[in-house]
Amino acid sequence: MTARRWKRYQEEGNEEKGKWSSSEKIFLDLSVTVGLLVLATAISVLFRGLGFRNDNLILVYVTGALLEALLVRIRWSSVFYGAGSVILFNCFFIEPTWTLKVTDKGYIVTFLVMFATSQVISSLMRQVKRAQMQASVKAYRTAVLLENSQRLQQAKTPEEIGRCAAQQLEKLMNVPVYCFLGEPKITVPVTGYIKSDEKNPDLSANEIAVAKWAFRNNRHAGATTDILPGSGGLYLAVRSQEQVFAVVGIRAVEKVPTNFEKDLMLAMLNEAALAFEKEQMQKKNQETALKLQQEQLRGNLLRMISHDLRTPLTSISGNADMLLENEHRLDNETRHQIFLDIYEDSVWLIDLVENLLSVTRIENGTMELHMQSEMVEDVIQESVKRAKRCMNSHTLIVEQEDDLLMARMDAKLIVQVLNNLLNNAVKYSPSGTEIRLCVYEKDHHVFFEVADQGKGIAEEEKDKIFSLFYAGNHPNIDGRRSMGLGLALCKSIVEAHQGRIWVKDHVPRGSIFGFELMAEEVKMI
Ligand code: ADP
Repeated sequence: MTARRWKRYQEEGNEEKGKWSSSEKIFLDLSVTVGLLVLATAISVLFRGLGFRNDNLILVYVTGALLEALLVRIRWSSVFYGAGSVILFNCFFIEPTWTLKVTDKGYIVTFLVMFATSQVISSLMRQVKRAQMQASVKAYRTAVLLENSQRLQQAKTPEEIGRCAAQQLEKLMNVPVYCFLGEPKITVPVTGYIKSDEKNPDLSANEIAVAKWAFRNNRHAGATTDILPGSGGLYLAVRSQEQVFAVVGIRAVEKVPTNFEKDLMLAMLNEAALAFEKEQMQKKNQETALKLQQEQLRGNLLRMISHDLRTPLTSISGNADMLLENEHRLDNETRHQIFLDIYEDSVWLIDLVENLLSVTRIENGTMELHMQSEMVEDVIQESVKRAKRCMNSHTLIVEQEDDLLMARMDAKLIVQVLNNLLNNAVKYSPSGTEIRLCVYEKDHHVFFEVADQGKGIAEEEKDKIFSLFYAGNHPNIDGRRSMGLGLALCKSIVEAHQGRIWVKDHVPRGSIFGFELMAEEVKMI
């Protein structure tokens, strides 16, 4: 309701400035006044016919004065109505009728009172109307200011803050508003600013130049200011003590803002500047937190590497040294065992280093996927080949439903996932048990599952084991310390492929680790 009244008020303002010419307005108001006089006279004639006295008829004319004050905007029309009502009353109802003569001098006083009453009523009505209008305007402005604060609090990005500031200012001023985030750029065609309303016409390069001046000099410029007053808009810098965040342009051609409106606009823009400042601070905090996290990760990795690399490296160098010193004294079986140990240690080291590299790439956000359509069969073969080298005491069974399965993936990374899952199956299940790798297609997805016959994973651990550095409390079969890298890496890789990874129990014992990727149609050439 308040908004509608304000809108009407604004429209009336516009009418005065061009929509209605002043002669049209006078004609309209006079027509209403004449109409009211005719109506009051007609009702009075009717009342006279019904036998009412003259004082009742005077009240009819006074009521007409009330309506006139309500409906007509030009001030002097009330004088016209007052004079008209006295003349008509005299002409129609005072003896001798149809003349302006007054035989009873007492009626002169009646006429004066009638005229004065209509003037007082009109003046009072106008005051009430003005007060009501001002109250509506005030209420509307308060509502806009409140809404401005609420919307700015919810705005998350600079774009949202800029849009909110422009739209709220448009509501306040009822003229198009533009917001430039950062320094306005003069390009033809002009681009890079937010409009309060999609219907706003575009700005010219000259107007952008004024906005740019306001941004660079951290001052208000354009219409109604001393700087470049010839421009069509008023350009206000949205600024904190140290920085200009944006420039807001308000079209001042149709409606020149009053000083009070300017103050209101500045108050709103100060709030917008606070919102910009808050947003910048949050961004900085996030960056600092990320840096801290990365520092922590680097620290953790360094600690682990230095600790965990020592054991296999010592073992490799010890074994190599023994081969060098005693090469001819060792029997074939012992030599073979030493070669095998060196090989296993070095493969373990390679896997670890690859996982470490991938984890740091993911954490730094530099991991790039080289997605290609791959035959699942090839990926399985590569993983099995690598896994079998370290699988002396387990039996690996591969079950693949369809040899022609294809999926879109970064094959190197998926091999790394399978490698981690197969290595874990070896590490966490006793010698002599079976490890089963099943691959099948269902609902346009390729499913990979690695099932072992180890101790399985407790229900409360199932969520945690995919977190980085979560090592669990499982003793490794090979006695090496768990670093909690492998599964976290698998999860990141699978999710980067828009896939899903999970763990479930393998009945009667052990666990099944599975993941899915989108399947791809096989193209027959
Ligand atoms: P790591 O790289 O050190 O092996 P992972 O992230 O691969 O660490 O595994 C995290 C933890 O999950 C392990 O410490 C272990 O407790 C548990 N885990 C992983 N795979 C299995 C499995 N197949 N059976 C039982 N526990 C497992």
